[in-house]
Order: sequence, then C-alpha cells, then structure tokens
Amino acid sequence: MATVPLLPIASGPAEAAHSGIREVVNVALVTPGCVRLEVGEPNFPTPSHIVDAAGEFARTGLVKYTATAGLLSLRERLVAKLSRINHIDAKVDEINVSVGGVGGIAAAIAALVEPGDQVLIPDPAWPNYRLMLAWAHGELVPYACPPSAGFLPDPGEIERLISPRTKLLIINSPCNPTGAVFPRELLERLVEIAVRHNIYLLSDECYDQVMLEGEHVSPASFCDDGRIVSCFTFSKTYAMTGWRVGYVVANRMVSDSITKVLESNSSCVATICQKAAEAALDGPTEPLNEMVRAYRERRDLCVNLLEQAGILISRPRGAFYIMADVSRSGLDAREFAFDLVRNKKVAVAPGTAFGDSAREAVRISLASSPEDLSHGIAKMIERLDELSSIST
Ligand code: PLP
Repeated sequence: MATVPLLPIASGPAEAAHSGIREVVNVALVTPGCVRLEVGEPNFPTPSHIVDAAGEFARTGLVKYTATAGLLSLRERLVAKLSRINHIDAKVDEINVSVGGVGGIAAAIAALVEPGDQVLIPDPAWPNYRLMLAWAHGELVPYACPPSAGFLPDPGEIERLISPRTKLLIINSPCNPTGAVFPRELLERLVEIAVRHNIYLLSDECYDQVMLEGEHVSPASFCDDGRIVSCFTFSKTYAMTGWRVGYVVANRMVSDSITKVLESNSSCVATICQKAAEAALDGPTEPLNEMVRAYRERRDLCVNLLEQAGILISRPRGAFYIMADVSRSGLDAREFAFDLVRNKKVAVAPGTAFGDSAREAVRISLASSPEDLSHGIAKMIERLDELSSIST
C-alpha cells in the first residue's frame, strides 16, 4: 500500500513544550539514591477517615455516574466551605466539581478563551497554564513577579499589558512556585483594574488552606459582579493528590459552559472520590492543621539554611515551595538542576520550568521530609561552592 503523508495534527499541543520539571524527574527516577526535592506532592498519607469513607462507599457497590457538576450533597458542603473559609457567597449551580484543580482551571479556560484572546499569566507560574493556552489558542502575555519584588507583580505593569484583545487575567495566590501570597491591597488593585478594563479574572486558589503566615484573601469575597472565576482543589489541603478532586466557582452562565466542557471530557468525577471529598469536609481539621504546621517548620528550617548560605530569595508565606538563588553557579537554572542530579544526587525544579523571570533560581518543595530537605540543601550548597570556585 502506498503511504501518503498524514494530515498535520493540531498545532497547539504538538508545538507546546513538555514540562521542564518532568525533565528533571525523568533523570531523578533513574538515579539511584537521588534525594527528591522537585515534586510538589505532600509526603503525608491521606487522613484515614477519608480513606475509610471511600472504602465504605465502594463496598455498597452503588458506584454510579453523578451529575456532571458533581454530587449535590458535595456541592452543598462546598457552599458552606466557601462561605466559612473563603467568604465567597456561592450557590450550588455556580460550582462544578472537576478532575483535580487542573480540570476546573482547564474547563474555565475552555469556557472563556477564544483563539487570539490575550491572557495575562504570572511569570514565574505553574507550567500548566501555558499548556492549556496552547490548545485553547489563547495568546499568552506574561507579567513579571520578579524575585526582587518578593515575587509580587506590579499592577501598573499589568495594566500596561492590557490591550483590546485581553480577555483574562490569571492570578495564583498562594503561589506555586514562589510561595508568595498576594496582600489584600494588591488583590483589590488587580480586581479594580479587571473591572475598569472589563476583563475576567481567574483566581487559582489551590493552596488556599496551605497558609504559612498571614491571611489568604479570595478576590470573589469582595467582587461579586460575575467576572471572577475561583479554582480550588482537595489535593493539597488534604494530601489527596491522587484522588483527583477539585472545584471551580463561577457565575451561572460561565458555570453552565464549564459543565458542558466537563460533560465532554469526564462526564463526572469518580463517585468514590467525591464521597471521599465529602468526608474530608465533614471530618476533623486536626490532620490538615498538623500538615500545615509541618510545612511551616520545614519552611523555617530551609529559610535558615538558605539564608546562612546567602541564597534565600524570599520567605514563602503560603503553599509549600521555597526558591533559592543559584546564580553563583554560573549556570542557568536548567543546567544547574541537571548538574546537581548528576553530581550530588539531589533533584530540584529549575526556575526555567516556570517562565523567564526565575532563570537563576530553583524551586525546592517543602512537601519533602525535613531529613531530605537538610541533606539536599547541604549538597546543593556544596555544589554551588564548587561551581563558583571553578567559574572565578
Ligand atoms: N494550581 C496550582 C498552582 C498547582 O500547583 C496545582 C498542582 O500542583 C494545581 C493548580 C492543580 O492541582 P490538582 O493536583 O488538584 O489538579
């Protein structure tokens, strides 16, 4: 049979880069004894009352489809959680339960962004926004959250980047990868800008309950004109990464579109996992307080170690990441991360994986054990000293 060249596949995903963290993970996985500080996954098990509730439900055998937007009983509990924790006044039909936080954010982007729309995203940022915009054919417009400003953006710069084609501003507080928490006044200015230019604002609040100090503020708690889309997850708060339950809150019209997107790609979140999420919301808060206490202790440990070595960039106030300055290695962050795995068997996430403004920084995950953090950071400092003595 004569072979003809196949038609080109869709350009968006085909041309998008793979995750820059994954590259390091792949090397770490084949490096025996490697200390893993690059992955953002709690090292705690899911609290047992959540696991038990899921098991009990599974044993009924009545594990059926739910409404696409999620079990009504779960969404009712989410209404209470959003009111209690986030001071957001939401109705059940303004909530969609999604496959992780990522599923809710992706569905919101599909519901809002048309090809050619400009979308403002932080730099550095969680890499998945870029991937989503690749298939949505949105035009990415990064705004700097530079290390020199404690990883906070300048609202004036964001406003200058807005054009008649701007549709959406994405913010992420507490932030992965920087640990920055946007203060209330900054959020108020950003919302005021979004209102004045009539653009949507997607607030990724997947770390809303992983606060190391200060307060978390949800923009939708003080702006209810329908332009804010707020995204959350059970993954981080309850050490439930593998259960894949998140949720997205938006006005009724946007929520209805989100439901159609979810209908097309997942029908509903696994019912057992939705039941587990209900148990998480009903259960004691002590396990999550314990985890946050542990992250805080690890943060303090790492702040001290990095500060003593003169490579601390800023003290994280939320999420479970800390950034270290590796400029004295003379390498860019990607080269440094590969060098560190090869020479010291320590894996960190290169700042280059998150955008351009953290090219000389690496992200260390506080979700790793204190022993691994102490050992890994000591080895990293050792390597920085070796490399800087070679380059001088
Ligand atoms: N948003 C940010 C900033 C994240 O770091 C993550 C996960 O790492 C997510 C969203 C998605 O969370 P999930 O694992 O629930 O999909």
